[in-house]
This record gives sequence, structure tokens and C-alpha cells, in this order.
Amino acid sequence: MTARPLRLLIIGAHPDDADYAAGGTAALYAAGGNVVRMVSLTNGDAGHHAQPGPKLALRRRAEAAAAGAVIGAAYDLFDIHDGELLPTLENRAKVIHLIRSFEPDIIFTHRPNDYHPDHRYTSQLVQDAAYMITVPAVVPGTQHLMKNPVIMYLPDEFQKPYPFQPTVAVDVGPVLNTIVDMLHCHESQFYEWLPYNTGILDSVPAAEPERKAWLSAQVKARLRKQAERFRKLLGQCYGPEGAKIEFAEAFEPCEYGAPLDEPARGRLFPFLPTH
Ligand SMILES: [Zn+2]
Repeated sequence: MTARPLRLLIIGAHPDDADYAAGGTAALYAAGGNVVRMVSLTNGDAGHHAQPGPKLALRRRAEAAAAGAVIGAAYDLFDIHDGELLPTLENRAKVIHLIRSFEPDIIFTHRPNDYHPDHRYTSQLVQDAAYMITVPAVVPGTQHLMKNPVIMYLPDEFQKPYPFQPTVAVDVGPVLNTIVDMLHCHESQFYEWLPYNTGILDSVPAAEPERKAWLSAQVKARLRKQAERFRKLLGQCYGPEGAKIEFAEAFEPCEYGAPLDEPARGRLFPFLPTH
């Protein structure tokens, strides 16, 4: 009997959050023959210093589609203005519809305490949808689900009210170049807006190979730092091999999703060693 492919849904606020925070794990899922869908709850139309607005939204839709195509995943944008996402009933219904129609085994999303209001409300909307997806009378136009998926939070560095507490860490070294290939598609972000916003626009190389190498160095530094931060957890997940892992992503279970017990963990993270 062949197992049904797993279905991973990553719900971010902006059209680069999903692959930025979980691109490696998404690539491992896809490489294993599973189905990955990435979604941005906003259209990203505020994410530029010089060219905000509808043209940027179109540009970011194309960038996201290209990033998803790197791993054969759909990458969809909701048509909600960037910076204006709110946890309204209307948006909750959209998220309920999204989850019900995709039927994910597992969802990744932001934590509820995060610097960006769109990230916070994305998390809030996923939490608000979590149980409601099983209630037939809620958003009756779409078939309810009989079970909640597992929901995991993406990493961040915020300390209040409590720091990120992952229970799963993933070695993303084998797919590091794939992560860079995905992020490289978000030209408007990684080579324009984010360097402008952090005051390093002058350091972005103009030519294609140089700027991709520049991006790669940044991605490596960030994921290497995460591997150090989650070293103990990597040891729990990979045994002695965990000490050698250079690049990592990590995830924290959300209590409003299905519990990530041992059988669920083995099923939903098939690329982790069993020991
Ligand atoms: Zn974001």
C-alpha cells in the first residue's frame, strides 16, 4: 500500500514569509512526493519603498509563483492590502475555506506575538479557524473537516510573553541551494525593499551571480545561527548526528491544532530519523 502524500499548507502574511521561514522543510516535503501549498494572506502591495501599489502586488504574485515553482508548489496570494490585514469574520471565513478546501495534514504559520501586525493577525486568523473548520454550521458553503490538522508555528526571536519553544528541528542543509533559489525569486524584497528598510541597499551587488551569492551568504548565516540556537533539539531529533547539522529550521506546535504526538510526528516529519 502506498501512503497518501502528505499535504503541507504554509500560511504567511506576506508573499515571501512561507519560504523565508520554512522553505527548506517545504523543499523536503516536495522532494518526498508530498503536496505543498504556500499562501500569503496579503498581496504584498506595501512591501517597497519606491513602487508600492497594484503594480507591486502583480510583481509579487509573479515572484511568489516562481518561488513556488522551484519546488513544484502553488503559491497563492489573497487580495488583501499589505499592512491592513485584520482578524475579521470575513477573513476568518476565507481562512476556513482555504483550510477546508486544501485539507492539509499540517499547517505552518506565524506565532501570535510577532513584530508585524499582519503576522500577528495571520496567526490569529489561523487560530480562530482551527476548531471552526470542523463545525458544519460555520461557513456552510464549504464541506467541513472531521479532524483538525496539526498546526506549527514558524520561528522568531521575540521573548515576550514567552520565547519560541520548538519541538521539531529539521536539517535543511541538503536543500540549502533550493532555499536560496526560492528566495532569489523575490527580487523586489531581497534585493530592493528589505536592504532599503535595513539600510544596506548600497551593499547589494548589481549583477545576477554576485547578488545571488550575496543572498546565499545571508541565508546561510541565518540558518547556521538557527542550528546553533536549536542545537539541543537537533540532538533530540537526529541523535548524535544532530551535533554536525549546520543549517536548521524549527517549529513549535500550536495547542489549537491536533496534538503532535509520537505517531503524528513520525508521520508528518518522515525525513526525521526514527530512533
Ligand atoms: Zn511578513
